Amino acid sequence: MKQIYLDNAATTPLAPEVAEAMLPVLRDVYGNPSSSHATGRKAKALIETSRRDIARRLGCEPKSIIFTSGGTEADNLALRTAVKDLGCDRIITSPAEHSAVIASAEKMSTLFGVELVHVKHLEDASVDLAHLEELLSSGPRTLVSLMHANNEIGVIQPLDKISELCKNYDAVFHSDTVQTMGHYPFSLDSLEIDYLTCSAHKFHGPKGTGFLYAHPKNKIRSQIVGGGQERGLRSGTENLHGIVGLAAAINLAYGNIEAHEKHVRSIKKRMADGLRERIPGVSFNANSDCESRLYTVLNVKFPPHPNSGMALFLLDLEGVACSGGSACSSGATKGSHVLNSLGFHDPERASLRFSFSHYTTEEEIDFALDAVSKVFDPVK
Ligand code: PLP
Repeated sequence: MKQIYLDNAATTPLAPEVAEAMLPVLRDVYGNPSSSHATGRKAKALIETSRRDIARRLGCEPKSIIFTSGGTEADNLALRTAVKDLGCDRIITSPAEHSAVIASAEKMSTLFGVELVHVKHLEDASVDLAHLEELLSSGPRTLVSLMHANNEIGVIQPLDKISELCKNYDAVFHSDTVQTMGHYPFSLDSLEIDYLTCSAHKFHGPKGTGFLYAHPKNKIRSQIVGGGQERGLRSGTENLHGIVGLAAAINLAYGNIEAHEKHVRSIKKRMADGLRERIPGVSFNANSDCESRLYTVLNVKFPPHPNSGMALFLLDLEGVACSGGSACSSGATKGSHVLNSLGFHDPERASLRFSFSHYTTEEEIDFALDAVSKVFDPVK
């Protein structure tokens, strides 16, 4: 049966060019990068070339890239080191963050007594900058952890404005950029930020690899100790083929960024227009259909329907993979923590996220629209 994949915010398929870059490394470059002989040095050279490639694409120094097992580890590393090494006694974050940030912040509070504060969001889901400034204007040294684009509703926060506020109040700023890295350009030579998080599998790289960008002015220490790899910041023999794949995916993404963006925007528009045409009463959470939202994500709120609670399952049976809030045992959608915390959850209406990549075709969108129309057939 035909399978249409519209869950690219969860993960993306590996690009063939990335697989091509990884395969010879996986097969032939077996040296331990820490070994001093030629076989080891060959592996080490690949890691450092990958680091330089990534740094060049982002406009930062290679030494600010710390390879990790992906976004979750990078988020954990940022929050932990901000508290343990940079002296942050308070974390300002949001209930709409990814669970990697929410859980890390809670852990910092339990382990080290760090104060946790949530910044308010405006009605359009953007961060209330006036509230952020009010919070920052008093209190202890603070880490602000706010994601660039939300993985569920696609709202994009203004990194430059948040960075400016953090600078004015001497706060440390971390942003989870997992959904925008590889899709939006970054110029870290002009944007002042302390930490950024990247995960390769969100832009056609391999799973289980990513990095934390940490501004070199901040002296942080290792959280995983052992052999002292990554200049002592993260011990453990490096995921060599993963790192090479990550760099290949970054090069591929940034080398084609305009063409990819143009295609994905047109695909997303086709989906949004098609839904408006076929499903009376459909709407889009947090205006996720707007140009200013993350162009890979469309979060759709369907009108009340008897199939609401089973919509994901029924679409899967029709051959369409997308995602939504977690389903509780009765089969009704319980909603996601993001939709709940920002006031978009409606128990009567199913919310589903469709997310696209440059591999998504118009035919696939039309197939998905037929499937959605079947599942949400107007109730007679
Ligand atoms: N942060 C965001 C915004 C994400 O969407 C994800 C992945 O779902 C992560 C962090 C976690 O990344 P990883 O899967 O590489 O651990």
